[in-house]
Amino acid sequence: MILVINCGSSTIKYQLFSQDVATVTAKGAVAKIGEPGAYLDHQSGDQKITLEQDIPSHSAGFELIINTLLHAEYGAISHINEITAVGHRAVHGADVFVESTVIDDHVIENLEACVPLAPLHNPANLTGIRQARALLPNVPHVAVFDTAFHQTMPPPAYTYALPYELCQQHKLRRYGFHGTSFRYVSRRTAEVLHRPVEELKSVICHLGNGVSIAAVDGGKSVDTSLGFATFCGAMMGTRSGDFDPGLIFHLHNEVGMSLADIERMVFKESGLLGISGLSNDMRTIETQAAAGHARSQLALDLFAYMIKKYIGAYAAAMGGLNTLVFTAGIGENSPVVRQKVCDGLAFLGITIDNTANTQAVRGAERVISPPDAPVSVLVVPTNEEKMIALDTAELAALPQH
Ligand code: AMP
Repeated sequence: MILVINCGSSTIKYQLFSQDVATVTAKGAVAKIGEPGAYLDHQSGDQKITLEQDIPSHSAGFELIINTLLHAEYGAISHINEITAVGHRAVHGADVFVESTVIDDHVIENLEACVPLAPLHNPANLTGIRQARALLPNVPHVAVFDTAFHQTMPPPAYTYALPYELCQQHKLRRYGFHGTSFRYVSRRTAEVLHRPVEELKSVICHLGNGVSIAAVDGGKSVDTSLGFATFCGAMMGTRSGDFDPGLIFHLHNEVGMSLADIERMVFKESGLLGISGLSNDMRTIETQAAAGHARSQLALDLFAYMIKKYIGAYAAAMGGLNTLVFTAGIGENSPVVRQKVCDGLAFLGITIDNTANTQAVRGAERVISPPDAPVSVLVVPTNEEKMIALDTAELAALPQH
């Protein structure tokens, strides 16, 4: 079986897949590591349990996960040897990792070198990898990077027009994120449409708590809205998306906000929450907008407008477009957002069928444009864990050196 690990600063999420990656045998998460109120949520088949106990460190968290997976009553394996490979979600692979890779000491050194680019995420990833390798030393471990899919972007898409040498020296460029999601959705889109991926010029809108849009031409990322940091591009739950960086100088120099205050503002106090003053949750924004709350209406309108502009930009970047795909929490579940984004884009060939768009078929992959429309518009639920498991199974099957 393949164990997939997503290690955050105080959480470890896990999913155990069958060897052919067709089914999830067990899944769960350890949360609040090193904090009061730590717990493990675990599900195996119909059985769900929550264990509340001290989890002082990531290593204790991993031990608890393995012991839970081995548990006679609610576990999923009877011997640790049943885990044949481990896949790790890795956030930032810089320009070093262009695809998923089997982890060895050299890979760990390179991951350490990437820490300054993702100081919040990469140290947690590294801790996860080290602990999992210590507990399961005899199986291949694979790192699957959020940034890797976007390494195919051409230089004009990833270069910032700042002093060239400075950018080279400090690796300042657009990297993009959500790459594992985009890769999975791009692959599934071709399968759902029964078309070779090479034919598709797709804009994929990953609309969750984090939002990013990607231009995917022939299965390869050619541009994406997130860049060096994770708050640019389209607006998100609490993150701003694009705004004039001149505001940062103004807020610092004239208004007296510290850089830490500004950083908190753009990451935690902006987006849907900042505009509405109510919530970062799109369900609340939609309900409140429908009830006449003007700032929620503005938040909803702005959210859709920013995405719409990226669709136009990416159609231009690819010299056309034949597929538009919605994924992640909002993209999969909000007919209102999908409709608003597509309104007025008929000039690009984008129209959607109202019935198909509003049918509540949660979790289903489906086409929501009319059959004869020049652009196929789809809803494709993302599954990053499955993509990680597929890569892990594939790489683990290769001879290890
Ligand atoms: P994710 O990060 O992919 O889990 O997505 C989380 C986002 O999905 C949150 O902003 C939720 O408000 C949003 N979401 C989930 N279900 C719905 C729904 N039925 N309608 C609108 N937004 C939803």
